Amino acid sequence: MLLDSNLSEAKEGKRISAKGYAVSHKSDTFKPYEFSRHALGEKDILIEILYAGICHSDIHSARSEWKEGIYPMVPGHEIAGKVVAVGSKVSKFKIGDYAGVGCMVNSCGECEACKASNEQYCERGMVATYDCYDYFHNNEPTFGGYSNNIVVSENFAVTVPKDAPLEKVAPLLCAGITTYAPLKFSQVKPGDKIAVAGFGGLGMMAVKYAVQMGAEVYVFARNKKKEQDALTMGAKKLYDSTDSKVVRERFDLIISTIPTPYNIADYLKLLKLGGEMGIVGLPPTEVEPKIGAAGLIFNAHKKVYGSLIGGMKETQEMLDFSLKHKIYPETEIISASQINEAYENLTSGRARFRYVIDMGTLE
Ligand code: NDP
Ligand code: ZN
Repeated sequence: MLLDSNLSEAKEGKRISAKGYAVSHKSDTFKPYEFSRHALGEKDILIEILYAGICHSDIHSARSEWKEGIYPMVPGHEIAGKVVAVGSKVSKFKIGDYAGVGCMVNSCGECEACKASNEQYCERGMVATYDCYDYFHNNEPTFGGYSNNIVVSENFAVTVPKDAPLEKVAPLLCAGITTYAPLKFSQVKPGDKIAVAGFGGLGMMAVKYAVQMGAEVYVFARNKKKEQDALTMGAKKLYDSTDSKVVRERFDLIISTIPTPYNIADYLKLLKLGGEMGIVGLPPTEVEPKIGAAGLIFNAHKKVYGSLIGGMKETQEMLDFSLKHKIYPETEIISASQINEAYENLTSGRARFRYVIDMGTLE
């Protein structure tokens, strides 16, 4: 819920008061936290956040599993909400529109990558939605979506139609684009055999998009109990991920969304010659999976690539594609006070697909 003061702050060019949930060190639990955001610039919009998805990246970041985090940290980069104020030069949004924000809130705008709308690969570095120093705003730390509002450049928000189910739109802003982008990069076509390894928030979206694109889809999951879900989503079969050595199928493309240690070569063996493996899952740095020269040479003429979210143009394309084909994540709506429980479930195999926080529950 927006604070009473927010609209006048926006109008008067003052910093925007915000409240949310934060951790103050890597072993902390989430607690209510009050902070402020930079003032509304002329190309910025102020969004009242209605829903925020919980991505496994939030957990890696909050727990400093990739790098030492910036604390206090308010994670959240799957944001959907309502535009409540617009800067004087905003042209894409008007008050009352719905908007979505993903993993980045800015980039240099000048390099080759930015010019090609690959802002996530900006040469100066994108400004991440949280756990990042914002070089456009005195290097102050960014705060994410587990909060009541966000101020963002209109160029880094996607337009969401009024009739879209906002709680389902939120996870598309990361889980959706991160899986849509490699499927496009690999130019998936009808009849391709695709395997999705790791069947959580990202994995389910990869399965749904690949099915929609006409591919024959297989799932490698840790939890056999999700077999029926995979079949309902249109997959042909769910394999236990520990069975990769006995599987006979050979795939054109494997997308790995796995957030824990695993052996990349086990999956490369399952590619057809000329096949591709797109890696999006990023386990903690200490246990990051590696592949050496032998792993590549004895799996020769197969391609491995990494993929990081997607650019703003592609994010809008993904959203339009998802809404057109009604491809939505499986979600469980939780209250803000249940974030800690959700984190526990996501790291102990008890979670199903995507938790989405209803920000109306923020006290
Ligand atoms: P989730 O926790 O929602 O899903 C992960 C799934 O992987 C779970 O279903 C889990 O099983 C399964 N899993 C865990 N270990 C294994 C294993 N060894 N073999 C097979 N399956 C396994 O996470 P997300 O989908 O939100 O994120 C996945 C990863 O992607 C994270 O590392 C995240 O940081 C990264 N990511 C990367 C992005 C990018 O731009 N490249 C963007 C967003 C996220 P179970 O159901 O049993 O728990
Ligand atoms: Zn994410």
